[in-house]
Amino acid sequence: MGYEPLTAEQRELRAAVRALVREKVAPRAAAIDESHEFPWDVVELFREAGVFGLPFEERHGGTGTGTLMVLVAAEEIAKACATSSLLLLVQELGSLALKLAGSEEQKARYLPKFASGEWLAAYALTEAGSGSDSAAMRTTARRDGDSYVLDGTKRFITNAGVASLYTVFAKTDGDAGHRGVSCFLVEAGAPGFSVARLEPKMGIAGSTTGELVLAGCRVPAGNLVGEEGEGFAIAMRVLDRSRPGVAAQALGLAQGATDYALEYAKTRETFGKPIAQHQLVAAKLADMETRCEAARGLLYRVGQMIDEGVEGPALTKAAAMAKLFCSDVAMEATTEAVQVLGGYGYIREYPVERMMRDAKITQIYEGTNEIQRLVIAREMLRESRASALGAA
Ligand SMILES: Cc1cc2nc3c(=O)[nH]c(=O)nc-3n(C[C@H](O)[C@H](O)[C@H](O)COP(=O)(O)OP(=O)(O)OC[C@H]3O[C@@H](n4cnc5c(N)ncnc54)[C@H](O)[C@@H]3O)c2cc1C
Repeated sequence: MGYEPLTAEQRELRAAVRALVREKVAPRAAAIDESHEFPWDVVELFREAGVFGLPFEERHGGTGTGTLMVLVAAEEIAKACATSSLLLLVQELGSLALKLAGSEEQKARYLPKFASGEWLAAYALTEAGSGSDSAAMRTTARRDGDSYVLDGTKRFITNAGVASLYTVFAKTDGDAGHRGVSCFLVEAGAPGFSVARLEPKMGIAGSTTGELVLAGCRVPAGNLVGEEGEGFAIAMRVLDRSRPGVAAQALGLAQGATDYALEYAKTRETFGKPIAQHQLVAAKLADMETRCEAARGLLYRVGQMIDEGVEGPALTKAAAMAKLFCSDVAMEATTEAVQVLGGYGYIREYPVERMMRDAKITQIYEGTNEIQRLVIAREMLRESRASALGAA
């Protein structure tokens, strides 16, 4: 057995998730991809098994087992089904603003519903004209008595149409740039809220990605999270904690594809021996496995940092590095897995074709990998390092 950095409790929980995935999620993965239907049966399974409790504290009905455990569980689920891993990850993404900056009253009202899985969550930052440059958003919110009235459109929102609560970012001051952004909790039934359309996609086909329309959408003033103008800082703090989730999903895809390619290569024979015995194939498998292990090192490290309460630039950089590296490894490993399977890799009967399509999104959402590189470089330039050459 290899070196194992997890505690006995974490290993036990991982074993439970692994068994659930093997028995109930893996057999559904191909059909979820084929049908493009949101997997309510997997939601129900996760509700019953307590999977949605993983990102939450015990006082809110969660397991209180910390962020590293969420990442480990997401990796296990994504090994078999990337769409299903998003059910857990977006439950965390959509509730992080509330966890980080919400009032005790807001937390008590909503977090137990997320921990049980009764409600699903969503995070709505992106707009048609503002993805990477999210501060250029045009959605507005104005105070009107005891309410805020939101106007605008949000694009590419995961869990659109299935979430009960949306964390929505909007400008309360249009002249203040990112300092004019505020954060609101919008319930699906709020007047003026609707989901205009769902996008057909290359991968993660069972996950909904949709457009939210806020047309004079009225929410109680008590649904403001934090203070007016704090929204952008909240959105960025959320991403520091959610990007590791994308990294975990990516690593699951990479490891799942590597494991599948390994098994295939042991039994598929050409020129009188298993293809795993051909050195060019063996080298691919070795590179895939090594990159997965390196990715896991970055991922677990950032999970431990969050669990130890690390905040600020160190976390921003570590989260961006984990997301960047794990997603690039996912794209490489799934593409190589298709290659190892030859023609069979390219057809739908084998899961590596789906994994390769699913992997692509991990290089794009929650900040493209170009943006992650900019973030990492920005943090490097801020750090003061003693240079071996003596230059300042
Ligand atoms: C399936 C899916 C699910 C999503 N889920 C959510 C969600 O739940 N909530 C949410 O808020 N958003 C979500 N998104 C949005 C996603 O985060 C954005 O699509 C992403 O951040 C990129 O923004 P964009 O599409 O506007 O691309 P753009 O910002 O237009 O970027 C286009 C290209 O230019 C590059 N680029 C942009 N600026 C720079 C720069 N300064 N330097 C170098 N290169 C640059 C980008 O890397 C990219 O390659 C989702 C998107 C998809 C496809």
